[in-house]
Amino acid sequence: MIDIYKYDDNNVFAKILRNQIPCKKVYEDKICLAFEDINPKAPVHVLVIPKIKACSFNDFIDKSDENSIALFFKSIRKITKLLNLEKGYRLICNVGNDGGQEVPHLHFHILGKKRLSGLIP
Ligand code: AMP
Repeated sequence: MIDIYKYDDNNVFAKILRNQIPCKKVYEDKICLAFEDINPKAPVHVLVIPKIKACSFNDFIDKSDENSIALFFKSIRKITKLLNLEKGYRLICNVGNDGGQEVPHLHFHILGKKRLSGLIP
């Protein structure tokens, strides 16, 4: 069983960042990489991950300075523009076991191009 609270260099997103596993890249800059979710829950389902080793949102916030945090969120906004989500979208970040996080590398889900109902898609 994976420890979601500890960074594991062999997690699937770390391997994607090292180009050891392919992904359908949507966007990349010096802060983050965005790619399509392998199991999409909406017509647009993109994952945005920071390039630093952060196992969760908590870890990312705790170890980053304010400028890096701001740049990461600016990149997410840039990606939502690229994806033409003018009618809106949902941003999800699962944190830890209770949050349903499965991969121990911070990721934000961007879901769109569908009228999402309820809190959980
Ligand atoms: P979470 O439950 O928030 O940790 O979400 C993990 C997400 O990663 C799920 O939506 C998976 O479908 C997605 N995922 C797992 N492996 C890959 C992969 N190799 N490429 C793209 N998405 C993936």
